[in-house]
Amino acid sequence: MIKSHPSEELLRAFVSGELPPALALCVSAHVDMCRLCQREVKQIEQELAASIEHQNNDSADIQVSDDLTAMMAAIIDSEPAPVEQPSLVAERHKAKHIRWQDNKFLLPRALQRQIAEQPELVTGDSWFQLGKLWRGRLAEHQQWRTSFYYIEQGGEIPEHTHKGREITLVLSGSFVDGDEVYQEGDFIYRDGAHTHKPGASVSEDCLCFTAVEAPLHFTSGATRLLNPIGKLLY
Ligand SMILES: [Zn+2]
Repeated sequence: MIKSHPSEELLRAFVSGELPPALALCVSAHVDMCRLCQREVKQIEQELAASIEHQNNDSADIQVSDDLTAMMAAIIDSEPAPVEQPSLVAERHKAKHIRWQDNKFLLPRALQRQIAEQPELVTGDSWFQLGKLWRGRLAEHQQWRTSFYYIEQGGEIPEHTHKGREITLVLSGSFVDGDEVYQEGDFIYRDGAHTHKPGASVSEDCLCFTAVEAPLHFTSGATRLLNPIGKLLY
């Protein structure tokens, strides 16, 4: 069962189209996986629609009304507007899964659309490996970096910190961060400087999707030598 969701504030910003594209993509992918947040998004959309209708009754500004109607239509369709491109839509049925050895992982719709342009990630041909950790990076979104991580059981990202926000969405398996164990669908939001050593559980591999705003900086002992790699993991 999903235990970690985006905050209401984040969902409201998502519905209003105020999030950076990478962050909107993470929220959108979580909403695809989470009935609770689907209901909440629908409710926020209805509130927003009601307030727009109210404003329209007060004002004859047709131009604004058209823009908002188009925006609402885009949101209700669950299309992450900032990253939507016609070519992705045309190809979206070709990239529904990530393959890993004999396993196939079905992706949330928002991510299916996103990786349709990078089919090499689907087969694993262009993943970067560091021990038990594999990273497939997506195209950059402004200053944000978005990546898939495949972490073999017992594998972890060495202890690090970074400034800015970091979102992890668990797509399959168990993801461990400190004392918490997260499962499929969990949305983990870290804000500001934060030191941690997340990884897969000892008994299960983990596939997750992450968005980070700033490079990783490794903090302890020998792993400081990894700092040049922090750029690669970022
Ligand atoms: Zn949720």
